Formats: sequence, structure tokens, C-alpha cells
Amino acid sequence: MKQDWNHYIGDLKVGRQNLGEEMPVVVYRLFEFTMKESIADKYGKEVAIELFRDAGKKAGKRICKELLDVTQGFTDFMSSLEEVMLSLKIGILRIEETDKENKHIVITVSEDLDCSGLPMTGETVCNYDEGFLMGVLKEYTGQEYDVIEIDCWAKGGRVCRFKANIE
Ligand SMILES: [Zn+2]
Repeated sequence: MKQDWNHYIGDLKVGRQNLGEEMPVVVYRLFEFTMKESIADKYGKEVAIELFRDAGKKAGKRICKELLDVTQGFTDFMSSLEEVMLSLKIGILRIEETDKENKHIVITVSEDLDCSGLPMTGETVCNYDEGFLMGVLKEYTGQEYDVIEIDCWAKGGRVCRFKANIE
């Protein structure tokens, strides 16, 4: 599959003929947390969190557009999201709770790419994931969800748990 995704991804088959499409999680985390630290150093922690959420939202929308079928019903859509997140090795998604209209959803992600295995700091760190889920839900429902991570590996949990509510 030739990927381009608005020039962000390019053609990996041509560009990385020997190294391939995958790379170690250590590279992703190093990129993520040095970027977060640099933004926080210059603009403060709140801005870093806000920008990570915003970037995650863009990624969620993009993945939804490129890899998911938004015409499916909620359950099928969430199963495809689970498959995509698994195939991209982002984490193992589960819907823990939802109400009839899917306005209040509790989502867990285990073995999360951003935080699983991190030392405990007592804080949730998956702001990019919060944004990612906001973006996916926005693209799918057309509505703005507020997504907050309530449990995280860095907070002592063994899964990341997100509460998604329509604002
Ligand atoms: Zn987390």
C-alpha cells in the first residue's frame, strides 16, 4: 500500500527498503518525551499538555479518515478501531462502559505505546492518547468529546483508562 497521508507518511516501501516500516518503541518514546519536555521548558507544562492533546486529535482524525469506515455502527466501528490500534501496535483497546447514546464512554488501553512500563510519577501522561480518542470520536460522530485519562501506568494502573464525554 502506498501511503502518503497528506505528506506526513510518504512511501515507506520505497524509502525504507532495508529497514522496513517498524522501529523500536524506545525511539517513539524518546521523541515523544523529549518533545514534551522541550515544549514544557519553553512554554510551561500546561501548554505542553494542550499541544500534545491537539496533535493527538489531529492523528486520531487522520487515522479515522485513512483507515476506518465511519459509516459503521458504533460496535463495529469500535471493533475496527481496536483492530487498527492492534495492527499499528498502539495498544489493546477495550470499551469498558458506554451508555445507550454513546455519550459517556469508558475506554481502556492496555500495553499502551505511550506509558506502559513507565516509572510511577503519580500523574497521567497520555495526553496524546486523550487527543487521539477525541479526534477519532469527533471524526466518527461529528461531535466534540472531552476525553480525560483517569488511570495510567505512570499513576500506578496497569491499563490506561479514559473517560469520554460529550462536552
Ligand atoms: Zn497512560
